[in-house]
Amino acid sequence: MNRTALVTEVLERLKRVLPVTDRPIALHEPTFVGTEWQYVKECLDTGWVSSVGNFVDRFAAELASFTGAKYVIPTVNGTAALHTCLKLVPIEPGDEVLVPALTFIATANAVSYCGAIPHVVDSAPDTLGVDPYKLGDYLADIAEVTVEGCINRRTGRRIRALIGVHVLGHPFDVDPIQTICRRFRLDLVEDAAESLGSYYKGQHTGTFGTVAALSFNGNKTVTTGGGGAVLTNDATLAARAAHLTTVAKQPHAWRYDHDAIGYNYRMPNLNAALGLAQLENLPSLLVQKRTLAARYQAAFADLPGVEFVAEPVFAKSNYWLNALRLCDATDGVRDELLEKTHQAGILTRPLWTALHRQQTYQDCPRMALTTAEQLATEVINLPSSAHLGGSNE
Ligand SMILES: *Cc1c(COP(=O)(O)O)cnc(C)c1O
Repeated sequence: MNRTALVTEVLERLKRVLPVTDRPIALHEPTFVGTEWQYVKECLDTGWVSSVGNFVDRFAAELASFTGAKYVIPTVNGTAALHTCLKLVPIEPGDEVLVPALTFIATANAVSYCGAIPHVVDSAPDTLGVDPYKLGDYLADIAEVTVEGCINRRTGRRIRALIGVHVLGHPFDVDPIQTICRRFRLDLVEDAAESLGSYYKGQHTGTFGTVAALSFNGNKTVTTGGGGAVLTNDATLAARAAHLTTVAKQPHAWRYDHDAIGYNYRMPNLNAALGLAQLENLPSLLVQKRTLAARYQAAFADLPGVEFVAEPVFAKSNYWLNALRLCDATDGVRDELLEKTHQAGILTRPLWTALHRQQTYQDCPRMALTTAEQLATEVINLPSSAHLGGSNE
């Protein structure tokens, strides 16, 4: 099939999966069908809209019970959650932190906020997450474990942690990654911003690392408007996270004494109210999203050159964003498809520009990034709002 014929065929199949509407179909829209109005109104009626109020505690408790994480600390957004996670490890200025090339820029920015240096690593084609086998070989080549920790022999700096990202909601291969982290004395930080409702071998993502970050941005599976959360099973780190995200103020009835440079990162009650209502509906959102994913998967099962990005064999994914991989996209199929789908009101998106191609991160230390480079040109994200999977009523 030539390029134009292939693009036409993909577009036809997308139209068969998606509903007929006269307005553009967004990449990911929130679904408000539960108690959102009631809970938000309760905040307004009682005056508890800001950084104190019981919706924040209820939201945290509900998230802990859903994910199985022992402690949950809600924050203003996912980036703030990631930044807090890194301060907890703690990442120190001048440290290097391993970060996959294929991620949203916030993952690397959080490292920079700590005065640390992202060290960019390659992705695996089956998970879109960090490739454990390439990473193991690479570290064996460039790093040395000493009493100071893991030292990058090329830069002389300490490599302190690895941030694993569950890309598009698909869990990365946690077991071999943890083996590497143990071998090289790295803390594992999970960027689970996209993976609420995704499980690795039956365990919820964000509960494997030292700490993890979730996001509740407007385009994520569950939204609080803007919001995030730190997850951890460690009581000391949890207390530290709560302290750091509330300007490190020492508890007292009226005094303003702060024992560290903290952050104003606490989630407001208004956002938590929206989030709590969203969480009540999460199981049904996940069913709708899997239904949509199954329909996309069936629609593209037999089209040569086009692969639906399915959950890895060891995982159950939330299918936050459905995606197609256009193998051998060197001839521009992907870009033509972006063009044609937008003309048809189907608002697809490419994957992110790889980190080492971003102006701010082009000089970072990195390994060969062949898979990430390839995936960045081959993958296209498809409209994935839960309601596109049909109604649950
Ligand atoms: C959304 C996202 C973030 C940041 O979350 P915000 O709530 O937008 O700050 C971080 N990492 C990844 C992989 C994300 O998708």
